[in-house]
Amino acid sequence: MTELDLAGRRELILRAAIAEGLVDRDREPVAAFLDLGAVAANVAALHQGFAREAPHADALHAFAAKANCLVPVLGFLREQGMGCEVASLGELAQAEAAGFPAERIVFDSPAKTMRELRHALRLGATVNADNFQELERIAAILAEHPSPSRIGVRLNPQVGLGGIAAMSTAGATTKFGVPLRDPGNRERLLAWYRSHPWLTAVHAHIGSQGCPPELVAAGLREVLDFAAEVDAQAGRRQIRAVDIGGGLPVDFSSDAAAMSPWGAYFAQLRDALPELFDGRYTVITEFGRAVTAKHGFIAAHVEYTKSAGGRPIAVTHAGAQLATRTVFMPEAWPIRVVAHHPDGRHKAGETIRQDVAGPCCFAGDLIATDRELPPLVPGDLVTLLDTGAYYFSTPFSYNSLLEPGVYGARIDEDGRVRFSTIRAPQSIAELLRRTGGDPAQLSDPGPRADAPPHEHPAPTGHPVTAHPAPSEHPALLHHSAATAP
Ligand SMILES: *Cc1c(COP(=O)(O)O)cnc(C)c1O
Repeated sequence: MTELDLAGRRELILRAAIAEGLVDRDREPVAAFLDLGAVAANVAALHQGFAREAPHADALHAFAAKANCLVPVLGFLREQGMGCEVASLGELAQAEAAGFPAERIVFDSPAKTMRELRHALRLGATVNADNFQELERIAAILAEHPSPSRIGVRLNPQVGLGGIAAMSTAGATTKFGVPLRDPGNRERLLAWYRSHPWLTAVHAHIGSQGCPPELVAAGLREVLDFAAEVDAQAGRRQIRAVDIGGGLPVDFSSDAAAMSPWGAYFAQLRDALPELFDGRYTVITEFGRAVTAKHGFIAAHVEYTKSAGGRPIAVTHAGAQLATRTVFMPEAWPIRVVAHHPDGRHKAGETIRQDVAGPCCFAGDLIATDRELPPLVPGDLVTLLDTGAYYFSTPFSYNSLLEPGVYGARIDEDGRVRFSTIRAPQSIAELLRRTGGDPAQLSDPGPRADAPPHEHPAPTGHPVTAHPAPSEHPALLHHSAATAP
């Protein structure tokens, strides 16, 4: 990774993307980017931080696919040595398409169907059962077909909620896992482990953004105590793996930490939970946001600017379709917005209070309200920072806004930026087919009529570096690299 701060890297990528036409006022008014070099450095920091704080423990660091489910991204993370945590049949397929072997896939979902369970157990993925009914199903399947899967149970230690209720999963009445403190549950689950020796793992995910590490440690304390009880009643080591979930929060307010504070987090867990990392268990982690959030951004053109009731408003092409949580829960999910000149240079100078709106047809489609920013004018761009997880990878199809292209960016030693297509921009033809229409019915195909140039093959080798350039970007066909001035 070149020695540049995150802001410098973003500007380099943005200027190169504009020069190549990947984001373009007329053709592609919004696009998203993932800084692959920074992601790779962050994953390396995860591995190093773990190895330093837990030198004796085996680990499977499974990326939570819901944070960024784009198959080339998953393939890239596989190449960086991660596993993959999935929570639906779709994510399971995405993980397989990205090349993860089943033994590096962890299947968590609160609503697995019988067919999904059969499939995952046949493949040999790790399966974490959510509840007693699911355990009955797994036992029934295993009675007919043995499986190489590692099987655990998701526990809800009921230690309380973090800062964002909707992101917290260890409350007294949370929907996930077996609530350990409810009357009778602990004994009932211990009996399950006693009579089913194939139950060799325990799992907990205490919560995502907003859960302090002390809360996570308190929850995992309960999980480890439960594991010790299982082993004690078995008179042998039955629990082989402890899955500690994800949830390391991200700083959305600054670029102070270019990499997530992995080492500090693992050190805190090791101090609070000495047996977790002493080598007796394989440790599974399921981080999502902390792996990719800070290294992705959305770039959107400002289409119009106006004033309403004395408040300046910039109408841009990025709104609830790409920043759904921020628009619907602005207090819980504020994101930084940066202003840029049409060529991508950072726009500095005096600021005014303004709203930054999206293109959706509802009044609440605001990315930022009353935000101090340099005065925006049509043709400028805004970037939405820290959106590499849970934003552009999972668009909301409101108003049939076309899904923007997503590009991986590699910054060479000499500052050249090379792009690869992670997700081609959605075409009108694709949209029509998905919504039951026929593109042949259009008298005038309009802009963006073409089908996307190529489906991505399942990544092999270098999944995000060698995809064909979209044909709508002639610049891309002629030079695959640009040097930002
Ligand atoms: C969402 C989720 C994760 C990832 O959470 P992050 O906050 O993105 O790290 C991990 N495990 C489970 C079970 C989840 O639901």
